[in-house]
Amino acid sequence: MEQKQNSPRNLMKEERVAFIDKRLAQLYPKPPVPLDHQDPFTLLIAVLLSAQCTDERVNQVTPSLFAAADTPETMAELSVEHIRSIIRPCGLSPQKSKAIKGLSQLLITQHDSQVPRTFAELEALPGVGHKTAGVVMAQAFGHPAFPVDTHIHRLAQRWGLTRGKNVVETERDLKRVFQESRWNDLHLQIIFYGREFCTARGCDGRVCEICTTCYPLRKHPKKISKP
Ligand code: SF4
Repeated sequence: MEQKQNSPRNLMKEERVAFIDKRLAQLYPKPPVPLDHQDPFTLLIAVLLSAQCTDERVNQVTPSLFAAADTPETMAELSVEHIRSIIRPCGLSPQKSKAIKGLSQLLITQHDSQVPRTFAELEALPGVGHKTAGVVMAQAFGHPAFPVDTHIHRLAQRWGLTRGKNVVETERDLKRVFQESRWNDLHLQIIFYGREFCTARGCDGRVCEICTTCYPLRKHPKKISKP
């Protein structure tokens, strides 16, 4: 039997990828880097502080921190307690203050006071995981990376771009479906979209434009696996 021309249907994966790619580029044509910084070092510190903290709060705290120290040398001279007292509003301040002092010392002794430009060297620094390293590689050095946090992980699943059980698998799948030249912008564009539309963790995937365009026939809440 002939299929009706205009009957709604869920999009195929390639169609979803193309739609999401185009729509996010239209919505956020030149996505700005959300964390205020002056150079790779201050970006590295800001990204480290953003773990389990909002970018907005990090941007409220970093002016005081960078007024006290904005180079590895000056930061390494501050005591852990002093750093901790400034960054306390960001949460996890005991771990973060130790990491900031420790990585500043390591940058001086092992990297000529420069932020290294490889994942391996970045991830060897205290407090720097794969996601933090990816953000620095992308936003400080323009290296293609696709850092995946829990929000990107959630959206990628709701948009049917991955069945990854964790952020590592999701990153691998997103890198497969999107062009490398789009990775850095898409990372930010998905975050901006998530912040604007996908704030409710409980949203079941049948509300806003991207989900309803990709899955017009979705009848049941889309369950996701937690990273
Ligand atoms: S429909 Fe819900 S889950 Fe899907 S992108 Fe929109 S807010 Fe997020």
